[in-house]
Amino acid sequence: MQQCRIIICLIMRKSQKREKILEVFKDGDLLTAHQVTERLPDIDRATIYRNIALYVEQGILREVNVQKNVSSYEINKEHDYHQHFICNNCNKIIPVDINPEDIKKIIPKFLVVKDFELNIKGLCKNCD
Ligand SMILES: [Zn+2]
Repeated sequence: MQQCRIIICLIMRKSQKREKILEVFKDGDLLTAHQVTERLPDIDRATIYRNIALYVEQGILREVNVQKNVSSYEINKEHDYHQHFICNNCNKIIPVDINPEDIKKIIPKFLVVKDFELNIKGLCKNCD
């Protein structure tokens, strides 16, 4: 019985950590796994990396490559096709709404679009 209680307690803690990790993304923030570890210093790195990978697998988070060789993550909302504008000067990332129909129009007819990721580069309002 005692052992059973301990196991339940462990499961609870595990799911609480999982929820905490997802909560970091709730405001629509685009974050690298490293940035998540900085926001959640009480959760070990391995747990954070493992859970982010799981959330991506489950389609809850989406992986975005706005930086070279570093993956960023954000909540994967249905019917949300926003892409990212990256300022060349201050590295600020600004979400830009893109209509997927517009993407389909510029792709040759014999190709089937399943997914797309656009990184648009330039200067933000402050840097221009
Ligand atoms: Zn800028």
